[in-house]
Amino acid sequence: MAHELVLVIDFGGQYNQLIARRVREHKIYCEVISYKTPIEEIRARNPKGIIFTGGPNSVYLDTSPRMGKEIFELSVPILGICYGAQFLVLGLGGIVTEANENAVAEFGRTDCEFDNSSPLFSGLKEKSVVWMSHNDHIETLPEGFRSICHSDKCPYGAIENPEKKFYGTQFHPEVNHTEQGFDMLGNFLYKVCGCAGDWTMEEYAQTAIREIREKVGGGKALLALSGGVDSSVACKLLANAIGSQLTCIFVDHGLMRKNEGDEVEAAFADSGVNFVRVNAGDRFLGKLAGVDEPERKRKIIGEEFIRVFEEEAQKIGKVDYLVQGTIYPDVIESGLGDAAVIKSHHNVGGLPDYVDFKEIIEPLRLLFKDEVRALGTTLGLDEKLVWRQPFPGPGLAIRIIGDITPEKVVTLQDADAIFREEIANAGLDRSINQYFAVLTNMRSVGVMGDGRTYDYTLALRGVTTSDFMTADFSRIPYDVLEKVSVRIVNEVKNINRIVYDITSKPPATIEWE
Ligand code: GLN
Repeated sequence: MAHELVLVIDFGGQYNQLIARRVREHKIYCEVISYKTPIEEIRARNPKGIIFTGGPNSVYLDTSPRMGKEIFELSVPILGICYGAQFLVLGLGGIVTEANENAVAEFGRTDCEFDNSSPLFSGLKEKSVVWMSHNDHIETLPEGFRSICHSDKCPYGAIENPEKKFYGTQFHPEVNHTEQGFDMLGNFLYKVCGCAGDWTMEEYAQTAIREIREKVGGGKALLALSGGVDSSVACKLLANAIGSQLTCIFVDHGLMRKNEGDEVEAAFADSGVNFVRVNAGDRFLGKLAGVDEPERKRKIIGEEFIRVFEEEAQKIGKVDYLVQGTIYPDVIESGLGDAAVIKSHHNVGGLPDYVDFKEIIEPLRLLFKDEVRALGTTLGLDEKLVWRQPFPGPGLAIRIIGDITPEKVVTLQDADAIFREEIANAGLDRSINQYFAVLTNMRSVGVMGDGRTYDYTLALRGVTTSDFMTADFSRIPYDVLEKVSVRIVNEVKNINRIVYDITSKPPATIEWE
């Protein structure tokens, strides 16, 4: 079944992913494509609507990104945002200039008045705040257009040509700072483009399964399962599509969180796929013995991982497809329309060189992270895996400061499990984005049962972040921290002191090593 499709045409704006997100939140499938995409390709995809993104350039300069006039002759509604609106105007014969006495640059929150007789604003308040970010402005409208919004300084805050269904906003409806922005996009999609909103995860899952079956035919596929959200959802999808034609290799390096290896196995062991769990804990710990330098730990684990995977893959022999859990932000970030720069290997760095295969399948490459989670839930994947926090590839090795011993791994696993359990009990497990325990290499004096102890200090870490690029330490309530602290010193051996990490990122990183 074909979806309704909206195409977001990328002119280099900062918020392009956000536009795509918002459209999908309105239950309409969309893709971000380059402005260089040939017009025949766009026509062939039969979009219900087209959105032009913003962009850093000035549209009146010859060097700026533009499309041919044919884009205006498809009889498809268009919404231009900022640069996109300026391109729409210029392309249809209007004038765009830099700031002058008619309009000045505007940045940030700006009060606007809207004409809600336009379908773009119908049902919305007449006055509200929008987010502006422009130097240039629309000076003269093309024929058939009128202004439907203005600010103090900008007469053309939004414009329309209702007959052709062309709309433009000088502001950015996709960002949260634009008060009614989400509804404006909804109006464009439903009232102007006439979308019905048919994008659901059930439907997506069915289509993806059918396409994978068609592609793979009777062939064999191989997947490296880490137990992370992306590879787990990819595995579940492939399991539903091709069952025993898939082999997934789960290298358990022995540095997973408590019981995690077993949880991964339980989630996939009877899913019909060939599930190979390699318990390589001793092997990894052997290589790591006496190593305390963080970068060396990472390197040793990375190399050993590839070696173990390669040995297992060789037992299987030639496969036709290698499955990877690449997701949409990776695809967009690595540059659109230029297939050569897409980093299809990033999430299993280096693996393809070691495995004999014909082609890569990336079944999640059009999904955002929370859509991947929604897909996992739709497919019936264990909630624990769907909502798993980001976990570093080297696992607990980089949460044990200094050298790693099997005893320290168990100590940390036990302490970390208590911390996670209490955070969940307090109902904080979805609001704190990442939280874990770190076993420091420091020992200090304590007193327990009237006797002296000399044991390790455990650090607790919890952060809130939306993008993991910057993060703030979480304000975990003291009574929750107290409960965690009491339980850990009572239930876990070799720990007599607990501290909470109150640094943000930057200057600290989320992980300690
Ligand atoms: N560069 C254009 C301007 O300054 C468009 C900016 C944008 O799309 N945010 O007006």
